[in-house]
Amino acid sequence: MRWPRWLTALLGALAGALPVALAPDATLFVPPAAPLAVSGAERWACPMMDYIGNAPGTCPICGMRLEPMRAGELNREQQRRLGLRTSVVVEGTAMRVLQLGGIVGYDERYTETVLARVAGRIVRRHPATFGCCQDIAAGEPIVDLDSPEAYAAQVELAAALAAGDTTRAAALDERFARWQLAPLAAAIRAGAAPSRIVTILSPASGQVWFADEEAVNRALRVGSAVAADSPLLTVVDPERRVVILAVPEIHAGLVANGQRVELAVDALGALPPLSARLGRVAVELDPRTRTREARVYLASARQLPPGATVSARLRVALAADLGPADPEDPASHGRFLQVPASAVLSTGVRHLVWRLRARQPDGTVQLEPVAVALGPRVEGGDGEERLIVRAGLRAGDEVVTHPAFLIDSQAQLAGTPSLLFPDGLPRPADAAP
Ligand SMILES: [Zn+2]
Repeated sequence: MRWPRWLTALLGALAGALPVALAPDATLFVPPAAPLAVSGAERWACPMMDYIGNAPGTCPICGMRLEPMRAGELNREQQRRLGLRTSVVVEGTAMRVLQLGGIVGYDERYTETVLARVAGRIVRRHPATFGCCQDIAAGEPIVDLDSPEAYAAQVELAAALAAGDTTRAAALDERFARWQLAPLAAAIRAGAAPSRIVTILSPASGQVWFADEEAVNRALRVGSAVAADSPLLTVVDPERRVVILAVPEIHAGLVANGQRVELAVDALGALPPLSARLGRVAVELDPRTRTREARVYLASARQLPPGATVSARLRVALAADLGPADPEDPASHGRFLQVPASAVLSTGVRHLVWRLRARQPDGTVQLEPVAVALGPRVEGGDGEERLIVRAGLRAGDEVVTHPAFLIDSQAQLAGTPSLLFPDGLPRPADAAP
């Protein structure tokens, strides 16, 4: 197929815009010596869209008769060649789609820190603590401590029992319970001899977790002194995970507890995304990262390695005030006029769509540029990317979604109103003498 000349002309016009964009301001804002519009009163185009000229006549390429060129008017053949597509402006509910990043961790609500409640010196480290991620049962030994403090309490308890001082004995029982060493008190009551060695037991079943292996090994080194209530080890639930998502400040107002979230894990590649709900959204923003934490709790997620990065897709139904609606309550969802994002041409300040003004019986369409005021980018029910329209269009309006840019460029070439030239370009006849 032949490369159409009008396309060459258009590309040339765009390439010509580049030096303008790069030129210093002083050279830009002098009135042009000649109007940017074409010199003739009208431009003439071949119906096959392969030639544009300044005078009537026949097409030098295919010999067809040239027709006066009117921007925004396309016959059937031109529509077919351009691949013209339109879409109807709709009013309906809308979703904001947030793409967030997060980190997997063990669910802190099911994480136990093993503490030595009583002071002492480590004399033995038990096998369950010899490496990360071993299974451990409640009551399994962690370390043995040589504890003069615990020994003294046992001696005191034995003496109180021998003296029949039940008040004192009960107070000592309470102390052993607080140390989580109740079995020691029971042993003394059963007649055992006091011992300097006490064994610290795991309070929970799960998996030993070394967030920082070096720090754990230092804390559990045989011979090291342990102060009362110092942490020794962490036991986690191996099934449960939390994903901590960082919500950027600009979207912080859109997240709320209970919203659905789809999680995809980079490390797991092609697995289907996990569907979950936001379990806890922080009230405050982190002043360092300017993000708000949102947690997703997963009850059965052994396949997610802690520390893995997760991408999350959050679709937030919007209330009428553009805040988050209640996902479970359709009545709280706002309704908005929406236009496909592909229909909107934008300079960053001015936004424009090409609207169908009329459709002739012969299939010719007449299009007109309409300036619009826009709200945020949203997703329609069909997953299409849309923009909320605040002004400029009505429900039922038909707008060009493809190729709006070419149609606008054609208007620029013809000198009629377009994105960059809201009033079009002056024709020589309009220019002051
Ligand atoms: Zn032609």
